[in-house]
Amino acid sequence: MARIAVAGFLHETNTFARSHTGFEAFVAADAWPGLVCGAPLLEAVAGANIAAAGFIKAASAQGHQLVPLLWASANPSGLVTRDAYEHVWDLLAHELRAAGTIDALFLDLHGTMVAEHIEDGEGELLRRIRSIVGPAMPIVAALDFHANISPQMVALTDALTVYRTYPHVDMAATGARAAALLQRALNGERWHKAYRQIPFLIPMLWQCTLVEPLAGLMQRVEVEESGGDISAAIVPGFPLADIHDCGPTILVYGIDGASTERAADRLYAAVLAQRDAFGGKLYSAVEAVARALDNAGEGPMILADTQDNPGGGAAGDTTDIPHELLRQGVQGACLGLLCDPAAAAAAHAAGCGAAVELALGGHSGIGAPPLVGRFNVEALGDGRFTGSGPFYLGCRMDLGLMARLSLNGIQILVSSHKQQAADQAMFRHLGIEPVQQRILVLKSSVHFRADFGSMAREILIVAASGENTARLSELEYQKLRPGVAVL
Ligand SMILES: [Zn+2]
Repeated sequence: MARIAVAGFLHETNTFARSHTGFEAFVAADAWPGLVCGAPLLEAVAGANIAAAGFIKAASAQGHQLVPLLWASANPSGLVTRDAYEHVWDLLAHELRAAGTIDALFLDLHGTMVAEHIEDGEGELLRRIRSIVGPAMPIVAALDFHANISPQMVALTDALTVYRTYPHVDMAATGARAAALLQRALNGERWHKAYRQIPFLIPMLWQCTLVEPLAGLMQRVEVEESGGDISAAIVPGFPLADIHDCGPTILVYGIDGASTERAADRLYAAVLAQRDAFGGKLYSAVEAVARALDNAGEGPMILADTQDNPGGGAAGDTTDIPHELLRQGVQGACLGLLCDPAAAAAAHAAGCGAAVELALGGHSGIGAPPLVGRFNVEALGDGRFTGSGPFYLGCRMDLGLMARLSLNGIQILVSSHKQQAADQAMFRHLGIEPVQQRILVLKSSVHFRADFGSMAREILIVAASGENTARLSELEYQKLRPGVAVL
């Protein structure tokens, strides 16, 4: 039995987003728990599709004693403030020093945190942790599929293991895989590390593992691991970060140095060979609404409002698509989730069945103006419910006051905290059965496919206003490594 410390500090930082991410964003719960220190961490994540939950369950089953230190996560958004980063670090350092003798450390990290004063958020975190625990203690971390893995992160950990699905339906499973790796490290195994940085950035939209080319590439990871000696990863990275180590990586761990390097070479070549295959069709709002009206049949037409996806750091309040739905006179469309805490509060004050004058959404100042009109309050909710789809499974959501508002035949689900629309429970919380809708507009890029994909008549990816930029060539990068291309 070993004493294993457990901590999570997660943020996906879109350095192009206007917002900054303060300490309060880490304190607040959203789809994931708010900041928690010590023993309550175990209960806070239990049962959710979260890497820490999967690790805790697996390591407990191995008979280890867990020492919960800290959990802090915030929704994807702009740079983490210096104050937030240092405040969370102070809390974590205090817990780590107070933990007594520990044999190993598990970290649940996103892998793409950028703070105002630190470009490699996780690398710096690991450097500080090593300064406390020393160079020899085993550290294994779980990372998001969208991690931008730096050389420093690789050097300062014994192993990193990464989600293998997008939509991320395997977050808890990744935690369990980390527990297996950490067990091997505790048994004395040490691995050769083979690391490659891919010389191009892949837009998030074209990283989905349900379709090619990522579906086939992820199968190659399993082939490399089939001998049992190697742990491998293809990591597509998070392209909305103007940093030196932005981009996809290959990571392979193995006992034998030469065979580990050869496996990394094969995976690197496989990704490079698919360079031209990362792409797909983007619709304008006008085109998408017109096509949705034309294409009659069973099941909802799904319009993915990808560029305003809060899961990529966008504001989650742009109004381009609902304006277009109203302009084309659509009846029977439902949009979720639009973040507007003032509108949600006004709806609650007015009550169910009332009508309220609102300027809804658009307060981020991005894209079309607010939707101005007299909205009917169709349903109200407290924003507390449990995710039921494969992505948010078991997550105890806290999205603040919510309301379903209707205007001229379209319905809009309003939340007080921004959250990616990737779970049917978000709609059912406000009395909407998604499969019965004619048109669903989802502020999501890829994760929605896990819970909504099978019901869709057709999925249209819409490039309306928002900060989760789909065409990377529109961004002005300054800090990429020389020679890195954008697709
Ligand atoms: Zn991700």
